[in-house]
Amino acid sequence: MASNKKLLVLPGDGIGPEVMHEVLRVVDWMDRRRHVSFDVEEGLVGGAAIEAEGHPCPDRTVEAAARADAVLFGSVGGPRWDKLPFDRRPEIGILRLRKELGLFANLRPAQVWAPLAESSSLKPDLVRGLDLMIVRESTGGIYFGEPRGIEILPDGTRRGFDTESYTEEEITRVARVAFELARKRTNRLTSVEKANVMQSGRFWREVVTEVGKREFADVELSHMYADNCAMQLASRPKQFDVILASNLFGDVLSDLAAAVTGSLGMLPSATLGAADSSGRRHALYEPIHGSAPDIAGKGIANPCAQILSFAMLLRWSFGMEEEAAMVETAVERVLAGGLRTTDIMVPGAARVGTTVMGEAVIRELDKIAA
Ligand code: NAD
Repeated sequence: MASNKKLLVLPGDGIGPEVMHEVLRVVDWMDRRRHVSFDVEEGLVGGAAIEAEGHPCPDRTVEAAARADAVLFGSVGGPRWDKLPFDRRPEIGILRLRKELGLFANLRPAQVWAPLAESSSLKPDLVRGLDLMIVRESTGGIYFGEPRGIEILPDGTRRGFDTESYTEEEITRVARVAFELARKRTNRLTSVEKANVMQSGRFWREVVTEVGKREFADVELSHMYADNCAMQLASRPKQFDVILASNLFGDVLSDLAAAVTGSLGMLPSATLGAADSSGRRHALYEPIHGSAPDIAGKGIANPCAQILSFAMLLRWSFGMEEEAAMVETAVERVLAGGLRTTDIMVPGAARVGTTVMGEAVIRELDKIAA
């Protein structure tokens, strides 16, 4: 019987296929041990799609993504395609999918796993137990605003320019996602902008405040300037629960939050579209790391971020909270047991590769389900 859980898997380039291979073990485990089956379709994106079909995001991939209930994305890019013009590069793969599926809310958790507190760039006490979520607007703002360009001025010198622009509708829909998320956590939301120096920032603050008053009066809303937020994230990150930010500020702040947690190889993300009347929404899940060409093919990539992206998928696209928590617990127990890939290695731990790490997660899942 066909499953009603359609999953499009897009491994992409570099370490993408290596870490995705470990996730597919977890998908298979869910089928065998929890009787949750997925219709898994595999597609091409990024450099792999350029090689096979001449485009980083072929129509066929977009159509499959639109049909799927959720997309599990690996990573794209690599030196082989670095010289291509901007609009033909592998990275267009993810930009086109976000645009075509209307994925406007990027959720990036920054979580410190207890066994990894020592790996943070901050003192362990400052980060132990850290668990925050950044909601970044991801289809608007200065990365897409017009006019943009590089022009030659009458005096022969050049000027480069971009436009930060947000409509009320764009701010409202992403603010709703952040407020709803805050409700599911500790009911606190910090909205970030530069209302002191940017008109679009002043407008952002105004609209978020209105949405809060009108629809989420029970959520405690505070506002913070983006520069202060960066400083606070680097000094007292545990004060935050959910942070809402524009595309640009969210990009920078979520990388900072990631650095604080200690490893790129551990961090998943989700990007969500608007829910339709039946509550169904397009969603794409991916690790925050890239294709890591420096270690691709060596079998040493950490598969945890990709596996945890699947846990997010279970929770957000299918409401499978119990299974999502099982996967997260399995990953945490593997770490607690002392296994480490190179990126999170500490003295005294056992260094393992991608496959052994993936197998260890399956063993822990078996124990949890026993
Ligand atoms: P990167 O995240 O690929 O790598 C940064 C560093 O972290 C590298 O030293 C890498 O070895 C290490 N690293 C990353 N993931 C790891 C993992 N799972 N396990 C162990 N170590 C890991 O970033 P980059 O080097 O700036 O970019 C490489 C390519 O990836 C570029 O072409 C870039 O455009 C692309 N990229 C793609 C995405 C995406 O697909 N969404 C995101 C970021 C970068």
